[in-house]
Amino acid sequence: MRALASRLIIACVLATANGVLGAVLGAVPVAAQGSTHVKTMPPRPPPTAEKAEPRSDVKEPTPPAQVGPVVADAASVTGNQSLTRLALELTGPVEYQVFRLRTPDRVVVDVSHVEFSIPATAGRDGKGLISGFRFGAFAPGKARVVIETAGPVQVEATRLIREGARGRHRLELDLVPAPSVDLSEVEMAAARESAARLHIADATPAPAPPAPKSSPAAPRVPVIVIDPGHGGVDTGAQGAVGVEKDIVLAVGRELEKVLNATGKYRVVMTRSSDAFVPLAQRIRLSREHEAQLFISLHADSLEARELAHAIRGATIYTLSQSASDERARRLADKENAADLLAGVHLPTEGTQDDVKSILFDLMARETNGLALNFRQLAAKRMRGSIHLSRDPQRAANFLVLRQAETPAVLIELGYISHVDEEKQMLSQEWQRKMAAAITAAINDFFATGSSIFR
Ligand SMILES: [Zn+2]
Repeated sequence: MRALASRLIIACVLATANGVLGAVLGAVPVAAQGSTHVKTMPPRPPPTAEKAEPRSDVKEPTPPAQVGPVVADAASVTGNQSLTRLALELTGPVEYQVFRLRTPDRVVVDVSHVEFSIPATAGRDGKGLISGFRFGAFAPGKARVVIETAGPVQVEATRLIREGARGRHRLELDLVPAPSVDLSEVEMAAARESAARLHIADATPAPAPPAPKSSPAAPRVPVIVIDPGHGGVDTGAQGAVGVEKDIVLAVGRELEKVLNATGKYRVVMTRSSDAFVPLAQRIRLSREHEAQLFISLHADSLEARELAHAIRGATIYTLSQSASDERARRLADKENAADLLAGVHLPTEGTQDDVKSILFDLMARETNGLALNFRQLAAKRMRGSIHLSRDPQRAANFLVLRQAETPAVLIELGYISHVDEEKQMLSQEWQRKMAAAITAAINDFFATGSSIFR
């Protein structure tokens, strides 16, 4: 299955990078951009998928053996609107695959066994055709760079260049504007599908396996799932110095520690490291463990920079088909796009057909009421020690909260776009305060009988 998926993606890589595009390459002038590595490429006939082989330019000459994982220690974007180049500086050779995704337009580069030693905010500002890029772990043994582009582009050339005698390499990607007649949607859909298939297969074993069903000796305690949002290639919102995925993981781990210390709960983490976990997998984990409470942790960011200094504070969200306000709706759209931005698109559960949706509503009614109880308790416990947003109890259509059996809330811990708030959120003192407030609310929730735990 995995081998098949690999073949599919490889076929797709070539079809996307060279295939249909080959017909138009000859018409695109390649500017040298002051580099000796760029070669003007002659028009190429579209290769057939059967002939496809993994792109790896490392076979000749044979590179020296790499000790330990390859580290990417710098990245740069150069060029202009007619040709933009992303370069990744590496301590050794890598194998890589490139493919494009639509809606939004992205170019995805998967590299094997690479660790990043680049500031997480490095890809925030783009240039030319690239509006930004993110990078990080994607699946065991695989890292990913997701390049966001302002519009459709095509991959003009990719190359891995050996630099000097110390085994260093540079991976370069040249992007040019896509012509108005671009790849068919059918082809893009196929690319997306095979990409998703491959990644699901690779990413599935990541989280902790479900604990054995209640052994007679173990006391029956409520299971709480803590879900630090984003991770790996999906950085989430970016602040002046930090990124959302790191803040929410720090708070999640602190919360896990404090909850475990009470001895009253069994805590399950959807991720305990800087790993990418698809939304559907987070929900699946909650269901497998029959969780009595699911808490997703995120940090918000205001796009309008001129208002960033004025907007701050934590907000607790519950699930609702219709958002409590426009800002909540936009936030849910943004959080729901996490998988898509990381290059994965999974069908969501509970939305497939009407019957299922009605059943979902009936079952969800009780759990959503419980989620509302928890939301209120959390706001109450945070007040006093944590800065709350103007309207701290809100609702929106977050995919990760679509859980019929488990009361689920999503806490936006604060605004990473607010300079002081970001500083606070990065401090251990604040993280402890937040974990203590959430723990107090959890204790209230299970002590007052407002939970389904019986
Ligand atoms: Zn988030």
